[in-house]
Amino acid sequence: MNTQQFYINGAWVDPVSAGTIEVVNPATQNVIYQLANATSSDVDLAVSAAKNAFPHYSLISLNERVELLEDINALLIKRNDEIADAISLEMGAPISLARNAQAPSGSQHFAEMIEVLKKFRSSSTTSNGTFVRKEPIGTCALITPWNWPLNQIATKVAPALAAGCTMVLKPSEIAPLDAIILAEILHEAGVPKGVFNLIHGTGASIGNSLTSHKDIDMVSFTGSTRAGIAISQSAAPSIKRVALELGGKSAGIVYGKVDASKVAQQIVDSSMLNSGQSCNALTRVLVASDQYDEICKEIIQCMQALSVDMPQQSPNLGPVSNAAQYKKVLGFIQSGIDSGATLLTGGADMPSHLEKGFFVKPTLFGDVTPDMTIAREEIFGPVLCLMKYQELSAAIDIANASEYGLSGFVWCDDHDNAVNIADQLRTGMVHLNGAGLDASAPFGGYKMSGNGREWGAFGLEEYLECKSIYGGA
Ligand code: NAD
Repeated sequence: MNTQQFYINGAWVDPVSAGTIEVVNPATQNVIYQLANATSSDVDLAVSAAKNAFPHYSLISLNERVELLEDINALLIKRNDEIADAISLEMGAPISLARNAQAPSGSQHFAEMIEVLKKFRSSSTTSNGTFVRKEPIGTCALITPWNWPLNQIATKVAPALAAGCTMVLKPSEIAPLDAIILAEILHEAGVPKGVFNLIHGTGASIGNSLTSHKDIDMVSFTGSTRAGIAISQSAAPSIKRVALELGGKSAGIVYGKVDASKVAQQIVDSSMLNSGQSCNALTRVLVASDQYDEICKEIIQCMQALSVDMPQQSPNLGPVSNAAQYKKVLGFIQSGIDSGATLLTGGADMPSHLEKGFFVKPTLFGDVTPDMTIAREEIFGPVLCLMKYQELSAAIDIANASEYGLSGFVWCDDHDNAVNIADQLRTGMVHLNGAGLDASAPFGGYKMSGNGREWGAFGLEEYLECKSIYGGA
């Protein structure tokens, strides 16, 4: 077993830290890796390397940056299956999902950023002849979670490199292995030393020293709203930019005469993908009372058809990613039962063919009311809540009553009505009739779901400062 070095200033170095973190395979509960837990001294070394690299890297040409991103992308594609194996091992994604979605999402974001960069113009002129320049913001701290680990890292590293920024990445201590492979790829692609640095550690050990650091110009964070608040507070005294992609409690509204079996399948796909561990996962479904029984029956059938198994078996659902999450999800299932919701399928007991691992059955609650904990709090597991409504306006009010505002879903037989409902949802993204995500469109949330946008051209803007040069023309 290995105690991982950190990647600082273009080399793998021993940590100053003496502490370690155990990385656990959630399917077997076996320790698979010993990770060094950084201290503030490691943070200082990594930040200093990034700061020193900035003056040179920020000035390299747009063409050179495009070429660098292309080289990285080619290596990401080449090592796709190796990355997929690491992700499946560290956070339990079914191997098919890891190979076909989790790992390729990294190269998809790099490919999209290459296209954005090719069209990017760093200078413009106002009607009064003032030059407006866009410049890289500086040295960035990038902090990511475990659920789509490479995806979330790539949505930060690709635009930061494209913008001309330098960075310190602190991936999730629960799923760090894919980040280590990415560091190897960036090294091989020739990213200049100090531009990208990788350290590991818990939020408790180094979160504050990284996010409050005087030489960090921007923090880009994806994770829980709880940690997002702590990071905002830690960063506030130095007025650094803080971009936050946080939790969600996405609602879907089914309205009008829809094809019940098709909609039910899309509802189950949107809520159960990655064992429900997606920030934008569908978690609450609002169905008109006259359609409720029919849709409910179809959803139960789709849920019961899902397989739960060891990740190598390519099931529909692997385990949830870690012990704390497992305990939390089971607690929510119990809370649903205790609060009087109807358990329609699933539940807190282990699937009978499995003996250990953090496996949770696809679980569906009916007759959920807006006041129940399971209808309000982010569960982040394979648990779906069905709610009845009488009037569309009431359904929209319930959807918007959440403190979160990441994604919304609408199923409707009339396109104009669907767009009209989407316009009334207070969320950063809305999926109409099962439409998926688009890597060129902005990704992010309203309210407690965050304050920035990632992906595509909007994602690049996060890493840029604007400068007005009056009298420039
Ligand atoms: P988490 O907030 O516990 O941890 C995320 C990362 O932040 C980890 O690297 C962790 O070490 C670090 N961290 C924790 N406390 C910190 C602190 N005080 N200072 C600095 N860093 C700190 O979240 P998680 O359990 O890894 O991920 C699940 C959460 O992430 C869910 O709430 C989910 O909704 C959210 N999420 C949001 C998005 C999005 O784009 N909106 C995407 C994925 C996950």
